[in-house]
Amino acid sequence: MSVQLGLLDDDRPKVFGSDEPAVVIRPSRRARRLILKVVPPFQIELVVPRGTRPADVEAFLSSSRDWIQRARAELEARYPNERRKLPTCIELEAIDARWDVDVVTDDRARAGLTVGAERLELRVPNHDPAAGFEALRQWLLGQGRAHLRPWLAAEAESIGVMPSRVQIRTQRTRWGSCSQHGNISLNAALLLLPKVLVRYLLVHELCHLRHLDHSSRYWRFVAEHDPDYREHDAALAAAWTEIPIWALPS
Ligand SMILES: [Zn+2]
Repeated sequence: MSVQLGLLDDDRPKVFGSDEPAVVIRPSRRARRLILKVVPPFQIELVVPRGTRPADVEAFLSSSRDWIQRARAELEARYPNERRKLPTCIELEAIDARWDVDVVTDDRARAGLTVGAERLELRVPNHDPAAGFEALRQWLLGQGRAHLRPWLAAEAESIGVMPSRVQIRTQRTRWGSCSQHGNISLNAALLLLPKVLVRYLLVHELCHLRHLDHSSRYWRFVAEHDPDYREHDAALAAAWTEIPIWALPS
């Protein structure tokens, strides 16, 4: 393992090695010793006390080779390479919108997103690939607030119910939920799905405002507003595997 670490006496992070995910070396004023860790969702980071000699860093990385290999294998299993990449295009099928994504790697700037009509320009520091995912996730939350809120309000009106509060979030395990207080929470990643599935999810949660259970009474009420609810429910459950990493909270 050979590496040009240069001087470690500035606070700029450095990328080590070409294997994926790379180990990002982060000099720290406060750290007392070298610490190797996994930073969600898929970054491996080595925190290095400021002023540590490059030879010591190299020796540490060399002695940690097994740990790094195991961490890489675990990350690879959880986030296969294809899913780890930043997208080249994003389609929000539910609202018939599509953007090409231009990724610009720029170490001087913070991560950021410029939104055009057909193009998203995503600036990502190369020591921090996860920052690109976070910028996209924030953008998706904004899209969710802009489109899912009014859509839910319209469906609520046609069903004849009224949620107390509506929250748009990104979630790992749920497309939506309805609390006993009548608060409805929606996953912004719904926008990536076909319209009929989003509509079904909205109907599903809104019908809980009438029946807060999954009783036959509840499903009869759902069927009045979405006769194909069984098919839609199954398709929604299966759609989890298609959510890209950037649309998940870290
Ligand atoms: Zn339910």
